[in-house]
Amino acid sequence: MKIKLEEKFAEQYHRNPDAIYFTPGRVNLIGEHIDYNGGLVMPCAITLGTWVAIAANNDQKFRFKSLNFDVQTEVDSNKIHPKDNGLWTNYPIGIINEFIRGGKEIGGFDFLFYGNIPIGSGLSSSASIEIATAFALNDHLNLGYDRLELVKIAKQVENDFIGLNSGIMDQFAVAFGEKGKAIVLDCETLKYKTVNVDLGKYVLAIINTNKPRELADSQYNKRVEECQKALNLLNTEITLHNLCELNAEKFALHSHLITDETILNRATHVVKENDRVHLAAKALNNGNLEEFGRLMYASHKSLRELYEVSGKELDAVVDFCSEYEHVIGARMTGAGFGGCAIALLEKGFEENFAKHLTDYYTGKIGYPAAIYISEISNGPIKL
Ligand code: ADP
Ligand code: MG
Repeated sequence: MKIKLEEKFAEQYHRNPDAIYFTPGRVNLIGEHIDYNGGLVMPCAITLGTWVAIAANNDQKFRFKSLNFDVQTEVDSNKIHPKDNGLWTNYPIGIINEFIRGGKEIGGFDFLFYGNIPIGSGLSSSASIEIATAFALNDHLNLGYDRLELVKIAKQVENDFIGLNSGIMDQFAVAFGEKGKAIVLDCETLKYKTVNVDLGKYVLAIINTNKPRELADSQYNKRVEECQKALNLLNTEITLHNLCELNAEKFALHSHLITDETILNRATHVVKENDRVHLAAKALNNGNLEEFGRLMYASHKSLRELYEVSGKELDAVVDFCSEYEHVIGARMTGAGFGGCAIALLEKGFEENFAKHLTDYYTGKIGYPAAIYISEISNGPIKL
């Protein structure tokens, strides 16, 4: 990939890049729609990711090209601010804009991106391109940001320029990923631990439903609002900063304050999902993958029935998995409404699983899903 990107960079910009970097995507193993509720999440970085080749230029311009998109852009470096045009270039532009607002001298740069993460599928290609841009410039120019600062800047870009009120999990996961480990992140304090993920005789399968996530952003923002409503109601009796300060037991003492059934369902999902992450971390520490798998199924059921962010495509994948004897756990991952599911699949059954899932899914949905087997891998690196 490095060589291919070098060649493509030379074709595009008629010189060699100064440096090439790689940043992974991520899956969330468990703890969904929890980050903006200040609880625990358990993501890990994956082998799919985004490469970026960069070279400084002397003409005070930023040029952006991606092998994944036709649109390319050239911007004067003193006019770099994101626009409300929905273009992919807003992600790197947003990062550079934040760096400049932070007083950093960036000069001009030519960029070439390439990602092998399925885009818009819940594996965080957006966080990956944000951190890829931020990590590359920070490293190359010695800008002096630490990794957590880069994560916060990238989240800011997603919130302010892309308009998604997302939490910090995605950017954190791709920036702090470690091979063979899951990150257990407290999204309120930003303290984190890593847990060894010894999959033993299993592999991590990622199943892309290939369903475009229409309406995903507006539904996502609606869930954020619904959780805020639940929080406001609870705060008439107790003082809370976020829903995840309550475990299921404490929540039961106050849940009568939430009379709207939908809002109650949303809050119930959040509180119980957060409890599940604690249990899942214990299960991993004890090497109890069967228990981890059961928690994955419980998480999916809750996202489907209480949080209502699944859909017939994701449900078809998880339903298939629950009937397939060589899978011990499966759930949707990411925001939902389409995108990807993950499954713990017994080694040696990859082909059999792919074949039978494809038949089942295509029969039910009308087009095939895509299946990847991924390792849990490291965060950003210079190649
Ligand atoms: P997800 O993060 O789940 O993949 P998003 O909708 O949040 O989905 O982000 C996808 C967007 O991120 C793309 O539409 C594009 O604007 C940008 N993006 C991601 N990867 C690339 C890439 N390799 N090249 C250019 N833009 C990218
Ligand atoms: Mg995204």
